Amino acid sequence: MMKYAKVIVDISLAKLDRTFTYSIPEEMRDSVRPGVRVTVPFGSRRLSGYVLELIEEPDYEADKIKAIAAVENGYAEVESVMVRLARWMKAEYGCTLNQALKTVVPVPREIRKRATRVEQVPELGKAEDGSLPPELNAAQKEAVAGILASYPKPALIFGVTGSGKTEIYMSLIAEMIRRGRQTILLIPEIALTYQNLSRFTGRFGSRVGVVNSRLSAGEKSECFRRARRGELDVMIGPRSALFTPFPNTGLIIIDEEHEGAYNSDTTPKYNAVDTARKLSELLGAGLVLGSATPSLESYTRALAGEYGLYRLPSRAVSGSVIPKVTVVDLRKELREGNRGIFSRQLLTLMAMRLQRHEQIMLFLNRRGFTGFISCRSCGRPIKCPHCDVSMTVHKNGRLVCHYCGHNVPMPDRCPACGSPYIAGFGVGTQKVEAEVKKLFPEASTLRMDMDTTSRKDGHSKILAAFGTGEADILIGTQMIVKGHDFPNVTLVGVLAADLSLYAQDFRASERTFQLLTQAAGRAGRGSVPGDVVIQTYSPDNYAVAAAARQDYYGFYRREMVFRSLMNYPPAGSMLFVLVSSEQEELAWKEAKAIAVELLSEADEKTSVIGPSDAGISKLKDQYRKQLFVKHPSRDRLLALRDGLLAAHGENVQMRLL
Ligand code: ADP
Ligand code: ZN
Ligand code: ZN
Repeated sequence: MMKYAKVIVDISLAKLDRTFTYSIPEEMRDSVRPGVRVTVPFGSRRLSGYVLELIEEPDYEADKIKAIAAVENGYAEVESVMVRLARWMKAEYGCTLNQALKTVVPVPREIRKRATRVEQVPELGKAEDGSLPPELNAAQKEAVAGILASYPKPALIFGVTGSGKTEIYMSLIAEMIRRGRQTILLIPEIALTYQNLSRFTGRFGSRVGVVNSRLSAGEKSECFRRARRGELDVMIGPRSALFTPFPNTGLIIIDEEHEGAYNSDTTPKYNAVDTARKLSELLGAGLVLGSATPSLESYTRALAGEYGLYRLPSRAVSGSVIPKVTVVDLRKELREGNRGIFSRQLLTLMAMRLQRHEQIMLFLNRRGFTGFISCRSCGRPIKCPHCDVSMTVHKNGRLVCHYCGHNVPMPDRCPACGSPYIAGFGVGTQKVEAEVKKLFPEASTLRMDMDTTSRKDGHSKILAAFGTGEADILIGTQMIVKGHDFPNVTLVGVLAADLSLYAQDFRASERTFQLLTQAAGRAGRGSVPGDVVIQTYSPDNYAVAAAARQDYYGFYRREMVFRSLMNYPPAGSMLFVLVSSEQEELAWKEAKAIAVELLSEADEKTSVIGPSDAGISKLKDQYRKQLFVKHPSRDRLLALRDGLLAAHGENVQMRLL
């Protein structure tokens, strides 16, 4: 029996991110193990902490060592695996061990009676219509057999939308159940729809758990408790479901692995795909990534043989074919006198589909772009006074900042030059809807964007309504293109394909390619052949052209040339440094000091870019300056980052891209 425990106290301060030794009272010797949360005396206070290690002999004057006060109730032990995962996260993401532990071993909460909502796990456990699984086709069988034969080697399933990836996941889950092991399935939050979930509950019944961001902390804890008690075989959820404490996780599956949503935006800023890779390694579990447009990182690993690669080039349902894609050059439309939002080609197809009572999706690509107002005289956009972003016009006529919520009535004149000629540049979803209503008054529409989905369940309600045919046309931003399956949709219109090309991000082309390919994948999922119209100002751009050809590999090759040339990931490694301050001078000064520091330590392979204004140069009254550091070695950049972290304060943030 070990008599002492090394405990990390629960204060997220870098300087306290170390262990303290406590003695373990006799009666707690059975329950105190690494990963257990305990209450300990700390100075004059009592604090919570995690046990990291047990030791036989005190490493400190024994008579000064205090005793653990209590083992916190409801905190079942996390295997040492989670503590090891947290250590890895600390090294990888530069957070404190405490922050990492809180992420991987979330603090259990009780359900507050009043807050309990039954509707949040709708009809789970109800087996749908017999649900006999279809017999797998040859490509699916090959993937399942290959993954199991090389288990636990990670695998990438590169399959077009509708190629039957989900059926593969279900076969693998069934095999895990036969082996008495559990599966964690990550799906982007936006695709956690009743439609998608019911396929799993239909097959695996009430042994499927679902977590999503609408659950209260108590409800989520309860779901995790059920997993720990062995009452579930599968946990489905967004990135935080990765930390489900199953007794014997056998497989982690990540659907739509290329999705940006797998990056956490709060500390620790972890990437769920990379973290899952580490966790599966620690657990000796399998890892399966699925996508129609794999991230360049994953595809590169697969080509290098690190992942098994399984291709599913065609749709699973016989008769369902990849849609026909047409690219329309908007510059040409304008030259020929069409000033509208819709090209003539798209209008013709819309009229035809409406007449046949088939459904249409109109996708407005606004990633990295806001439907802003600018002055036609001086050309300046109207920006939020607190943030360096353009404000967006809403239907009620007010200008709103999507970053801080600041809103003002629409001005009559340009605040910069006084000109009365100010107007919207580009279009928003509301404008598209108004235009559709004007052109096709008999058509019914649904709109899905930030405004219509801010209410709870907003987006599942809209999707459900569209799914049951309540509207002919669904208009929306990128949220409509993610993994929803509407067999009656036979036309997808992409209104302006290029906007996302201009985002200040080296991954802009990759994101554009993914969005366009995913959007195109929405058309013709049933037996009626589908059409896709991509309207663009840059028909020759390789991301747009490759998406139109549905040519992933062509895109991959072109994009990797660019990444290699620029030493961008995955060809090289890059560290992003962000300095913020309420005073612009101070932000500059610190950013420049960091640049000097970096250059003084640099070898010939290091390049430092910047400092410069960040993409958003002011946010909530904080000025933001950025630096990029490139180096072929990731470890070298991690070391540089840790050096900077130790020397600079809270106003410097760093992330490996
Ligand atoms: P993905 O996950 O790749 O988008 P799904 O697994 O959702 O693809 O499959 C798309 C459609 O094809 C679904 O309706 C599914 O039921 C059907 N399907 C998948 N595999 C088969 C199969 N082997 N035989 C018949 N239908 C299949
Ligand atoms: Zn002006
Ligand atoms: Zn603002």
